[in-house]
Amino acid sequence: MVHFVGAGSGAADLITVRGARLLEQADVIIYAGSLVNPALLDYAKEGCEIHDSAGMTLEEVIAVMEAAEAEGKTTVRLHTGDPSLYGAHREQMDLLDRAGIGYDVVPGVSSFSGAAAALKAEYTLPNVSQSVIITRMEGRTPVPDGEKLRLMAQHGCTMVLFLSTGLLDRAQEELLAGAYEPDTPAAIVYKATWPDEKVLRCTVGTLAETARRAGVKSTALVTIGGFLGSSYERSCLYDPSFTHGFRKGEQPQRG
Ligand code: SAH
Repeated sequence: MVHFVGAGSGAADLITVRGARLLEQADVIIYAGSLVNPALLDYAKEGCEIHDSAGMTLEEVIAVMEAAEAEGKTTVRLHTGDPSLYGAHREQMDLLDRAGIGYDVVPGVSSFSGAAAALKAEYTLPNVSQSVIITRMEGRTPVPDGEKLRLMAQHGCTMVLFLSTGLLDRAQEELLAGAYEPDTPAAIVYKATWPDEKVLRCTVGTLAETARRAGVKSTALVTIGGFLGSSYERSCLYDPSFTHGFRKGEQPQRG
């Protein structure tokens, strides 16, 4: 059996309880060494076979899983953040299906959640933005035509850019070709939830320069939008006058 486990965004104690238990029980761990905090390997039992996937191909990863399976061993495939975002675990699951090997998936705290915590921010403020676009600047991995950054930027909603810190000159142009203004608030969060986390608050117009000055080139998220500003409306949910299924409002319900 193979367990795909989300490691969380960095801090070793941000893994789920279920993920930590599986790590403790694993006979084989394959972890994404480029981004997963090595402190998570402290959960491994004595004698556990550990592989860093950073230098491995998909085929080599699957070969390790197949060898473990042949000996009745349990494998944990440890992915950074939550595996469902830029995790490349789909292609592994498809090959495991073909090989007739069973697996399950344990979610993790994605770095976009870690970044919001670092910023002490809420992505979805009433009347500011009720949507979060998670996307990336096109790099060596192509982005479908309908998802080019300037098109996504037309919404002007909260945006979180993965995998784009090295491409910020171009990303900035694309964002400004959409609905964002040079003074729209932005923040670069480097290594969210790691001990050396850095939060760089800036604007869309100064994204590239801010990253350059701080020497941040990777392992960072770019967050953009009015949610980083100071004005927003209170939520209806906790408004004294608002009635909902769990509470009766003090005044007539708002339309
Ligand atoms: N599955 C992961 C993302 C993997 S893609 C998740 O859910 O977070 C790798 C990219 O994620 C990095 O290039 C960076 O943009 C972002 N990233 C991963 N960990 C991060 C962290 N702790 N802080 C900021 N960005 C991070």
